[in-house]
Amino acid sequence: MRYSFVYPGALHIHTTYSDGSGTFPQVIAAARAAGLRWIIITDHDSLAGRPYAGWHDGLLVIVDHEISPERNHFLALGLAKVVDNGQPTQQFINEVYANGGFGIIAHPDERVANSFKGCYRWDDWAVHGPQPRASHSVGIELWNLMSDWGEHLTSANCYVHFFVPTLGLSGPTPATMAWWDRLNMRGQRTFGVGGVDAHAFKQRVPWGEVEVFPYRWLFGTLTNYVLLAEPLHTDATTATQQVYTALAEGRSYVVNRLEGAAPALSFTASRGDECYTLGDSVASAPGPLLIEADVGANAYVRLIADGKVLTSGVRHLRQSVVAGTVYRLEAYIGGKLWLFTNPIYVTG
Ligand SMILES: [Zn+2]
Ligand SMILES: [Zn+2]
Repeated sequence: MRYSFVYPGALHIHTTYSDGSGTFPQVIAAARAAGLRWIIITDHDSLAGRPYAGWHDGLLVIVDHEISPERNHFLALGLAKVVDNGQPTQQFINEVYANGGFGIIAHPDERVANSFKGCYRWDDWAVHGPQPRASHSVGIELWNLMSDWGEHLTSANCYVHFFVPTLGLSGPTPATMAWWDRLNMRGQRTFGVGGVDAHAFKQRVPWGEVEVFPYRWLFGTLTNYVLLAEPLHTDATTATQQVYTALAEGRSYVVNRLEGAAPALSFTASRGDECYTLGDSVASAPGPLLIEADVGANAYVRLIADGKVLTSGVRHLRQSVVAGTVYRLEAYIGGKLWLFTNPIYVTG
């Protein structure tokens, strides 16, 4: 199948229906100004924003919720009602899937609580999806922008990090990436996303009040590009299903647009006439697979096979592979992670 349509979007967004400072119209205007085509708003334990779900001048607004107990936050997607956050983690995940939804483990590797944020860690990494896990797809928020920034904040650096936010960002933690690779290598299909966790918190500072950070700015950071075989449908329910299916199948990649504009990415594995791309499963067969990538910019590209760097290059890669089960790309600009893809899977 050809996936010729690419749509940038952002997920993990809060509004005034929970602890965000922006109303739906403000958030929608900011997303459009940032060039996004879809957003997923996930207020804490609330679907009060549902009436706003739908198309808004070329922007698809999807409204779901973040199950938000003391720890173990979970973006619950595709549900008609709010899930009780007072249940044990495994139980609320099971409920999401029993009701036909799916979800994303949010900011799993938080380690720090400070004056800006609490520590909302994913406590038990043995819990990573519904039971039985079977072929259900689960997501991990590999990189949460505001969580990353908040974890690096101290009273000494807060003004510098406010004015130069990139100084407070270090990307996904190695533990998160290793967990993700492990799950996929075991055949427990797990797709990766980048989340903005936008709240635009209003903070008092000596010169008045600031927003940390404005929605418009956040929507120019971690952007998820979903690949579709058809354009997004004019019917919002169908279009929402298209975005959700692409995410669940791992047909997406993430770009930190702070480090550079979005590229036209190409990432394929081929054998003879067969050609596969991210999110695809390739049946293992004798003979090598040819992996080719072009990230569309002069970035340092790495091919990661089963969690290890197999090869690297500038902008392009071309590598013949015989073993391995999970292949994905990472690209860096100026030493900073700029792009990462979901995997191509070799199965059987
Ligand atoms: Zn959260
Ligand atoms: Zn959140």
